[in-house]
Amino acid sequence: MERTLVLVKPDGIQRGLVGEVVKRFERKGLKLIGIKMMSLDEAILREHYAHIASKPFYPGVEKFMRSTPVVAMCWEGVEAVETVRLVAGITKARSAAPGTIRGDLAMSVACNVIHASDSYDNAVKEVKRFFKPDEVFEYDKSEYMHVYLDDEVAGGR
Ligand code: ADP
Repeated sequence: MERTLVLVKPDGIQRGLVGEVVKRFERKGLKLIGIKMMSLDEAILREHYAHIASKPFYPGVEKFMRSTPVVAMCWEGVEAVETVRLVAGITKARSAAPGTIRGDLAMSVACNVIHASDSYDNAVKEVKRFFKPDEVFEYDKSEYMHVYLDDEVAGGR
């Protein structure tokens, strides 16, 4: 089973969209295995956003990401990384497909409601970056028998 990181960004916090985000991933059939509120400092943001840290827009992104705490979540499921990215929609929210979180709920490139890990390798690193081992939980979700066939779970990543 894959695990992936989602952050509800400050625009989502300010606009009261935490419940909406959680609801969409829950209804999709993903399993919530970690959730907490936290403030992000310069160091964690530079690490998390290393791939955009040299871009001219980075200072604005950092200021935005530090403007309120974020809600960090860890979601689990078969091929969860790709699924969560599809549910999130593309970066530029005003062009994101209707039905996606960004497509339905946002207009901006920067203020696009959530962060979602973009690959399996990054998801592994990001879950470690935001959650201590004892903040991620293993438990049986009875609903799984209605979400997947058994062999899908056994064979899937
Ligand atoms: P994604 O979050 O979709 O994986 P990126 O990794 O490319 O997108 O960028 C990280 C975040 O940086 C985006 O979600 C967005 O908040 C911000 N960002 C990306 N590109 C721009 C831009 N051109 N102008 C302002 N902010 C941007």
